Amino acid sequence: MISAPRQRKEEPAGLEIEDLSHAFAQRRVVDRVSLAVKRGEVHCLVGPSGCGKTTTLRLVAGLEAIQEGRIRIRGRLVAEPGFSIPPERRRVGLMFQDFALFPHLTVAENVAFGLRHLGRGARDDRVRELLARVDMTAYRDAYPHTLSGGEQQRVALARALAPDPDLMLLDEAFSALDTALRTQIREETLAILREAGTATLLVTHDAEEAIRAGDVIHAMQEGRIVQSGAPAELYARPANAFVAGFFGPVNRFRARVRGGAVATPLGEIRVARLDEGEDVEVVVRPEGIRLTRADGSSGSRARLEARRDLGPVHVVWLRLPDGSRVKVRETGVVDVAIGEEVTVALDPRHLFVFPEE
Ligand code: ATP
Repeated sequence: MISAPRQRKEEPAGLEIEDLSHAFAQRRVVDRVSLAVKRGEVHCLVGPSGCGKTTTLRLVAGLEAIQEGRIRIRGRLVAEPGFSIPPERRRVGLMFQDFALFPHLTVAENVAFGLRHLGRGARDDRVRELLARVDMTAYRDAYPHTLSGGEQQRVALARALAPDPDLMLLDEAFSALDTALRTQIREETLAILREAGTATLLVTHDAEEAIRAGDVIHAMQEGRIVQSGAPAELYARPANAFVAGFFGPVNRFRARVRGGAVATPLGEIRVARLDEGEDVEVVVRPEGIRLTRADGSSGSRARLEARRDLGPVHVVWLRLPDGSRVKVRETGVVDVAIGEEVTVALDPRHLFVFPEE
């Protein structure tokens, strides 16, 4: 007898946020936020200070009472207006910048803190397993103040992982570490979370951290998610000038659409999908400007004002005829001296024209 193949039920997302809004004293700081994080994925919520990232995270953790919207963790409804599962029953791990280990408890006791429901033997086994996973076995009897920042961060991770959370929330969790250590600890932490199949939502104001860490980035501006996608997608097709400026410094110009084009000091740009007379913002990445020594051929002119050679990359500042200054990144040879005239050309892959906001 041939039995019918068993239907595989779609695995629910680790986290689903649906139309979440929140106001403090009538001021809306989270505005219709929706997102879904699958198990084993790392999503980054990134945006400038005050855009509503932490409030979103606090709502997910259950530290703030929900006003509008719905939150599900691994398919289970945890919050909607009038209904809330308490934080400790949401199966959520939390790590903040100030990861606050208990100073009077040893490393092993800190990790065991959330495991009081287990019997002694099971608890000891779990602590041993977690300390091995974060490579801190040798420090099990040490007190937090004797550990470096990176070691404390590892213990904090082990403690957050101990109850086997469905969802890990990280709020600027690596910001207190110095640059080299930050990258290393972040990569180790995220590798452990991905391997454990935990859904992770990482909040950061640091776009570079989001680009390096996130499978998906949610760019947040004034309470709203303005774009969600893989880092490469946001780089290639930014939704607005704010997202375009995410990946490093950019050159910006204001202009108006005339005859299907906008005039900038770097040359004219044809625009197809904008209305005649519309005010626009032109964003040009430093790598979107190509320069050659002025040779009398056509093209916009500029004067090379300063340059810095950073090994494989040259950063050059140009003064344009209208007095404005632009930054250029060149990977090729720049055989132009300070004060010399250059001809500039634009690379359409690195320039974006947006309606003025
Ligand atoms: P940062 O990166 O600086 O932490 P953020 O993006 O995480 O910023 P939130 O902490 O979510 O931003 O704050 C969003 C806005 O809500 C801010 O203007 C903040 O001042 C305000 N806010 C946050 N918590 C409260 C509160 N408990 N009462 C009143 N206003 C608050």
